Amino acid sequence: MGDSFSNAALFPVYQASDQSTKRIEVGTRVGLLIDRTSAISIDQAMEPFRIWQPIKTKTPNFGFTHNAYWLRFQINNETEHQLTRYVELPISFIDEVHIYHYKDSQQKAKFILGDNYPFEQRPYRHPNFVAPLELAPGLNQVYVRLASSGTIEAPLRIWEPQSFYEESNDFNLMQGGLAGILLIMMAYNLVVYFITRDTSYLFYVGFVASFFFFHFSLNGFAFAYLWPDFVGWNNFAVSTFIASTELFACLFAINFLKLSRFSKPAYYIMKFLAAFSGVLLVLTFILPYSITIRLGSAAVFPVSILSLAFGYWRWWKGAKFARIYCLAWTAILVGVGILVSGKYGLIPSNVYLNMSHEIGAVLLVLLLSITLADRINHDRKLRIRAHAVALAHERRSRSAQEALIKSKEEANMRLEQRVKERTIDLNKTMHQLKLANDQLQLLAKTDGLTKVNNRAFFDKAFQEEYRRVLRMKVPLALIILDIDFFKKINDTYGHPGGDACLRAMANLIQPKVNRAGDVLARFGGEEFVILLNDCSLENAVKLAETLRKDVQKLIVPFEGQNIRFTASFGVACGLPDTTFTPDDLLANADKALYQAKRDGRNCVKTLADCTS
Ligand code: GH3
Ligand code: MG
Ligand code: MG
Repeated sequence: MGDSFSNAALFPVYQASDQSTKRIEVGTRVGLLIDRTSAISIDQAMEPFRIWQPIKTKTPNFGFTHNAYWLRFQINNETEHQLTRYVELPISFIDEVHIYHYKDSQQKAKFILGDNYPFEQRPYRHPNFVAPLELAPGLNQVYVRLASSGTIEAPLRIWEPQSFYEESNDFNLMQGGLAGILLIMMAYNLVVYFITRDTSYLFYVGFVASFFFFHFSLNGFAFAYLWPDFVGWNNFAVSTFIASTELFACLFAINFLKLSRFSKPAYYIMKFLAAFSGVLLVLTFILPYSITIRLGSAAVFPVSILSLAFGYWRWWKGAKFARIYCLAWTAILVGVGILVSGKYGLIPSNVYLNMSHEIGAVLLVLLLSITLADRINHDRKLRIRAHAVALAHERRSRSAQEALIKSKEEANMRLEQRVKERTIDLNKTMHQLKLANDQLQLLAKTDGLTKVNNRAFFDKAFQEEYRRVLRMKVPLALIILDIDFFKKINDTYGHPGGDACLRAMANLIQPKVNRAGDVLARFGGEEFVILLNDCSLENAVKLAETLRKDVQKLIVPFEGQNIRFTASFGVACGLPDTTFTPDDLLANADKALYQAKRDGRNCVKTLADCTS
């Protein structure tokens, strides 16, 4: 017995006085007894033959183990009065934490703590395990028994009560702040999810919620405030939330980094990790905590390292939206790195460094939320650009269409205009043609000199008139007249003088032959014919006589002289039938004219006057 008590290293003494430091870190300076049976009692542990040993590792961390660990140290109350000191184990998830207080081999107090027991059993309501010891003056012995299906750590502390309250308050404030930030980010991003329906947000919210419960399960706050009576659930909650945190981290990485489109191997690796985490999540409710917590802890490294690595890869390959994502994961890894380095004594540990993984977590959560907003903005810009391009295309095609329609209309208009112009030209030409034709027809039937009908017209008109009167059974009369001694006029006044007489003669007769169907024509030379439709011989002779007198009176002024002349008339008439032809009528009139010439000229004769 004296052996173990005499070796100070194996049963170290800590001083407690009215002036002693506010907090003493016990650390590895304790006596250690490993109970491989996990069955020995406090009395058995205190048996003198037990071999206590120093802790050889840098931290009092025993990892996953089935052993029970006994730790012991002494507190020397240097004062003359009783002193209160708190022994705290600042790890909240150890199954069994039994703390015994001895004074002079007498048990003064016994605290059965650990998360295997309902929260209300604790002598001091705190997420960590706290045993308030009333120390009598002199040496007091403290024995601590630790057993757990998870890892066992024993960073024991001895507290002066006042400073314990103060630091607890600070710690609670920070944890409350962290909880507030996480809850706000969850709520905010959940609302954003419902607005945008972007699955990344749902995975993000799942991730933050999982991390929230993981963190507060780990530090005992969840047990203290959320499920103080559910000891069974509390025993494996940490492994459940590690698995769900990993699951959502993988889903978020796949979805946010669009891995399926980016790299098939990266996509399948993350998908495998997600599937593994999902299965593990279910298994945490079935398999023992000691197994699932090992699997979950093992998966933390590939999940976080690959989430970060794929992020950097994506960024390196030009995806700008991956920048903040990488920063976020870097923040949490740096935070955890600092925490671990502190724990292993690589860097000096302090309150802020102990909070480094929490600060890292807050940065992770905030930056991931920012990166989601950033990506939404990025996607929106892409959409706006695509929309603008589509709009420009549409506008261009519409203006092209309009131009086409316009040019078609213009072409139509030009065509119409040209058709109109052509039609006008054509009508003009047709009109001119008609005029020319009329002129031609007029010329064809008109005698150039006298402007009365010519012989050709007379021949045609005579045949037609004959056929008409043949149907109507009315008589047809014909007068042939010939200027007397015309050769002499020509000889006396010249050919132009003769022409003037011919024109005067025509002008004289034309007004008198004005009944419809009557025809005056120049028959040749100085000879004219008058065809009288439905006219008796008597009336025809009367007309011839009138004309003869008028000719006799006619004076034709020519080059200062007056030309006078007479004319002879032959008249014939007949009721046309098959035996009486136009030629017969013409021959009879011609015979009568011949008779008039023979009878001395300037007279009117009929067939009846003719002497054979
Ligand atoms: P008659 O009393 O027997 O009829 O005698 P005439 O001189 O009139 O007889 P004839 O028939 O022999 O003469 C006709 C003349 O008329 C001959 C010709 O030179 C002339 N003549 C024929 N046509 C024209 C013409 O268009 N203009 C002129 N100035 N003379 C013409
Ligand atoms: Mg004649
Ligand atoms: Mg004559």
